[in-house]
Amino acid sequence: MRMLLAFFVAVLLLSDPFESAREKMVRTQIAARDVSDSATLRAMRTVQRHRFVPESWRDAAYDDRPLPIGYGQTISQPYIVAYMTELVKPQRGHRVLEIGTGSGYQAAVLAEIVDSVFTIEIITELAKPAADLLKSLGYGNAVVKNADGYYGWKEKGPFDAIVVTAAAEHIPPPLVEQLKDDGKMIIPVGTPFFVQTLTLVEKRGKDISTKSLIPVRFVPFTRGK
Ligand code: SAH
Repeated sequence: MRMLLAFFVAVLLLSDPFESAREKMVRTQIAARDVSDSATLRAMRTVQRHRFVPESWRDAAYDDRPLPIGYGQTISQPYIVAYMTELVKPQRGHRVLEIGTGSGYQAAVLAEIVDSVFTIEIITELAKPAADLLKSLGYGNAVVKNADGYYGWKEKGPFDAIVVTAAAEHIPPPLVEQLKDDGKMIIPVGTPFFVQTLTLVEKRGKDISTKSLIPVRFVPFTRGK
């Protein structure tokens, strides 16, 4: 009897009550729109988004919207996370830099696909819990640094891809420098607090091309003192 009870408790602990909500999120918000990259869809199906939002918002974790994560910051809408992920064409073996760790969710999605993720967060109070959470969920291949991401992370570069999740008024030149030849960067560019343009930057030798994609609203890219 006691064994049976222990078994049911174990099953309950191991099961994920949000699995069907997550599946529905991928089907209706992501695959039904235009995201089709199989690695991206698999990562979106796997990462437990509810673990990255504050307790009080847990029931809304799989809704089609950004959510507050404290300190005036937000975790992006699931579709935007998937769209940005697909655009940098992440692959196993890749080394990716993210600017704006926030909750750590985007970093986890990338860490499901690529070999190593380096992510920088300027707010200390967010960087520490995100690092702890990523570690506790088994994303040992995602490393968090508390710094101003404008300068990138030169010692860890060059990167196959860079994902910037805060709205910048211009594309930081150090980030372009730290992209590999043939590397891709996705970054919201525009005026903070207004609508920005999600921009894809591609580097081919000395040739840097930029492509404007969709209008987005991100929290501002702030600068260290
Ligand atoms: N990728 C995050 C979304 C975070 S919102 C997620 O999945 O949850 C954007 C984050 O960028 C905020 O946490 C903000 O503090 C951070 N940020 C803004 N300017 C920054 C900078 N210069 N360097 C590093 N992080 C920055």
